[in-house]
Amino acid sequence: MQTNFSAAQLADPHVAESEKILRKCVHCGFCTATCPTYVTLGNELDSPRGRIYLIKDMLENGRPADKEIVTHIDRCLSCLACMTTCPSGVNYMHLVDHARAHIQQTYKRPLLDRLTRAVLAFVLPYPSRFRAALKLAGLGRPFIGLFEKLPALKPVAAMLRLAPSSIPAVSAMALPGVHAGQGTRKGRVAILTGCAQSVLDPAINETTISLLTRLGVEVVVPEGEGCCGALVHHMGREEAALASARRNVDAWTRAIDQGGLDAIVITASGCGTTIKDYGFMLRLDPAYAEKAARVSALAKDITEYLAGLDLPEPLRKPGTVVAYHSACSMQHGQKITRQPKELLARAGFVVREPREGHLCCGSAGTYNILQPEISAKLRDRKVKNIEATGAEIVATGNIGCITQIASAAKLPVVHTIKLLDWAYGGEPPKMS
Ligand code: SF4
Ligand code: SF4
Repeated sequence: MQTNFSAAQLADPHVAESEKILRKCVHCGFCTATCPTYVTLGNELDSPRGRIYLIKDMLENGRPADKEIVTHIDRCLSCLACMTTCPSGVNYMHLVDHARAHIQQTYKRPLLDRLTRAVLAFVLPYPSRFRAALKLAGLGRPFIGLFEKLPALKPVAAMLRLAPSSIPAVSAMALPGVHAGQGTRKGRVAILTGCAQSVLDPAINETTISLLTRLGVEVVVPEGEGCCGALVHHMGREEAALASARRNVDAWTRAIDQGGLDAIVITASGCGTTIKDYGFMLRLDPAYAEKAARVSALAKDITEYLAGLDLPEPLRKPGTVVAYHSACSMQHGQKITRQPKELLARAGFVVREPREGHLCCGSAGTYNILQPEISAKLRDRKVKNIEATGAEIVATGNIGCITQIASAAKLPVVHTIKLLDWAYGGEPPKMS
């Protein structure tokens, strides 16, 4: 694509990066076929190619964002299916991240939208605040029907619908410390405790630590780590996202200095995509660029890490038929497609893949709160395809997808690690 940026514009490294990305796009439109919003809404401006044109026009003309571009960029799930499909290697992720930051800096959203986003950014990345908010959600539940009738309050209704009625206890295993591996030492890793997942389902990381230590891997929960920053990053709040990234880079650098790390293990693929991008996000910060690149190189999804271990034979082969849902952040963001299925099959599960596996389930961070209508359409389409597999259970590697799919599916939805742990001698997963 031809671009017309001035030398002065290109002096801004963010604009220069976006210009490089824009020039790679050849307008072929292949990406439209796999874009969930184009497939759902049928509008070119809700396709990757349409959004790329809108972003180009806004950046080239040095314009503040307007209502039209905000509407179409807000509808983008950042699922990155377009990046998997694109034959020209267009890095849509970095382009849309830049556009979201530009929107945040130059566009004044309506009051309720601003408030909703401010509350999400204030609450979700902090487990104690999120836990308190979930307790309060019980009070708002009787008013869901009323909130749903008022367009501006639909996000509140969506939030209340997604809030679980009971919240698990805080996990002692998530506290900073070291969990020693059993038997012959196979490795040493840090684990990301995370934010929303640690509140909604602390058993995911407990199970991960239990399985890894049984396999001989020492697991460090570093002091000072927190939310990866993805939630605010996708809202265009760059400074907050970079602050989260720096804090985690510091925490993991200390862990590296204190005893070395073979990997930073992540059990939520949405977080994995962002942490693998820390090197890019902090490339312009001389104090962090190198450390952040080292952290990104060490980041591994739990299934990616397990696939690289010399695993023993599983202790039991459950034979359960599992529908494997590949989160967008897993398959498109991190290009991890083989390992989770191979691990499940090796552990004795019968793995089935739903049709349209490339399409997002509509969770996408805070998307199911901020865009509840499109999100619900994608969720129902996903659940229909999953249920058509005839599976007994759904496995996936991202807490957002678990919450989203479980809100409509008739079959239980669990994290992949819980099924693997079960096969390797752990407790059977709770099928609520
Ligand atoms: S990230 Fe997903 S929703 Fe956004 S343009 Fe690409 S395919 Fe479409
Ligand atoms: S597939 Fe790639 S090159 Fe083709 S229009 Fe989409 S982003 Fe541009």
